[in-house]
Amino acid sequence: MHEMSIALSIVDIAEKEAKKASVEAFDTIELEIGSLTGIELDALEFVWNSAVRNTVLDKAQRKITTIQAVARCSNCKTEFELDFLHDPCPNCDSFEKEILQGKELRVKRLTT
Ligand SMILES: [Zn+2]
Repeated sequence: MHEMSIALSIVDIAEKEAKKASVEAFDTIELEIGSLTGIELDALEFVWNSAVRNTVLDKAQRKITTIQAVARCSNCKTEFELDFLHDPCPNCDSFEKEILQGKELRVKRLTT
């Protein structure tokens, strides 16, 4: 399951941070998830508890910020928000673009 491996990789990051900071558990974890990652927040929610069991995130509260995807058209340089990777430029209908944001999956903050 896609979301399970994502949850486990987040746990992995947190475990490493815990080791670095010599802490045994985190109280909160803040995540930033881009809208183009394809991550289903409901599905992530569903697997979360089993992924974090007996880890430093076992009791951590989750805060998730969704990052709206933004692209810049390679043709006319218009910057626009997009919902799908294949959305064309609203100005010139070109499909050639550079994704500026929306693909990130980031652990933004861990607090104890
Ligand atoms: Zn354009």
